[in-house]
Amino acid sequence: MANNEEDIKKLIKCVNFATIKHRNQRRKDPQQTPYINHPIGVAYILTNEANITDLDVIQGALLHDTVEDTKTTFEEIEENFDAKIKELVREVTDDKTLPSDERKRLQIVHAPTCSHKAKLIKLADKLYNLRDLERATPLGWDSKRVQKYYEWSKQVVDGLRGTNANLEKELDEIFERHDCK
Ligand code: ZN
Repeated sequence: MANNEEDIKKLIKCVNFATIKHRNQRRKDPQQTPYINHPIGVAYILTNEANITDLDVIQGALLHDTVEDTKTTFEEIEENFDAKIKELVREVTDDKTLPSDERKRLQIVHAPTCSHKAKLIKLADKLYNLRDLERATPLGWDSKRVQKYYEWSKQVVDGLRGTNANLEKELDEIFERHDCK
């Protein structure tokens, strides 16, 4: 297990960076949970349920939505962390200049081409979001939109298979509960 001084410092630097970057954001659930619960929860799924202690993966998980959802740039990720972490964050970042449907289609297309580390983050991200969706319907979503989200998620996950048995099993149980083909 990674527990040397440098690793702990890197880890807390990441938590701190993500917390500052997401400080004004809320999740879409009715309780409007602070956004930072999500990246920390994704990192926790990886350590706790997937038994992942690879520091790159955990840092990538903590930072995975900073560029996509805040004003953070890839350059900032590289300056504060390193090129390797920047590339990992790039792999899990959607291009927000594209329309939402196109971004969703590209996630399906790109999933199988991702690195093993990026696939782990994507699986944990999907698992977190789908558990959230089972817990509460986001503000403004109807049942049709919810079902479409489960089905789209399954298509992305189908391109990530063979990465982590525990995460895939948890995801499959959700897809079964919601009759995803
Ligand atoms: Zn996310």
